[in-house]
Amino acid sequence: MSAVHDRLAELIRSAGSVVALTGAGISVPSGIPDFRSPGTGLWANVDPMEVAHISVWRRDPERFWGFYGQRFAALEGKRPNGAHRALAALEAAGRLDAVITQNIDGLHAAAGSHDVIEVHGSIATASCLACGRQYSLDDTRARLAADADGVPRCDCAQPLKPDVVLFGELLDEAAMTRASELASGADLMLCIGSSLEVYPVAGLPELTLEAGGRIAIVTQSATRYDHYAIARLSGDVEEDLEALVAAVELRH
Ligand code: ZN
Repeated sequence: MSAVHDRLAELIRSAGSVVALTGAGISVPSGIPDFRSPGTGLWANVDPMEVAHISVWRRDPERFWGFYGQRFAALEGKRPNGAHRALAALEAAGRLDAVITQNIDGLHAAAGSHDVIEVHGSIATASCLACGRQYSLDDTRARLAADADGVPRCDCAQPLKPDVVLFGELLDEAAMTRASELASGADLMLCIGSSLEVYPVAGLPELTLEAGGRIAIVTQSATRYDHYAIARLSGDVEEDLEALVAAVELRH
């Protein structure tokens, strides 16, 4: 355990309000590729920002689901890792108020975190925009597999849309309002596994700093907030968070 872990643990213990903001990097140890990184893994031949777009879903649902079905497959059976569990442990110990996440994989809830704000939505459900019916992930997968064109369809025959925020869509207003309130009220924001590049989520640490709070950054890539961080960790995300939780719990 390093001096940085110890210092950050002390900040967590002395803060009145601690909030975590997580991105794709926290789920990489669970075997989930960061699909915003072009040219990597499954997404070598497509530009996700182009195909996971609301206009493609509307215009060409077969093409959209041809891509999104691969995302569903990539997420199937994935389990939370030590970093997800570390945040759940901090919440259970009363040291963490909430997790704001850009991830749609549902792994924070699976790890036992209770207050999770999924600002980009979740694959847990899919909806019909025509009639409003909502379907579970299992049901959506079954409909996708059963359809000749590979498009999961509502009972009313319209294509379903995963309840995630697609490119070209606005973020859920209620979720962003809550996230902004948490950011403004935080004495300490832990920014984990996010390059903090995608707005409006990337503006949340700024709200914390403007309100007089501090930010700590646990991520491998450089971020625009690095100079403002009171602590900066860039090792293995599981090891860093497990060491942090151990440091918090060792010295009550
Ligand atoms: Zn419908």
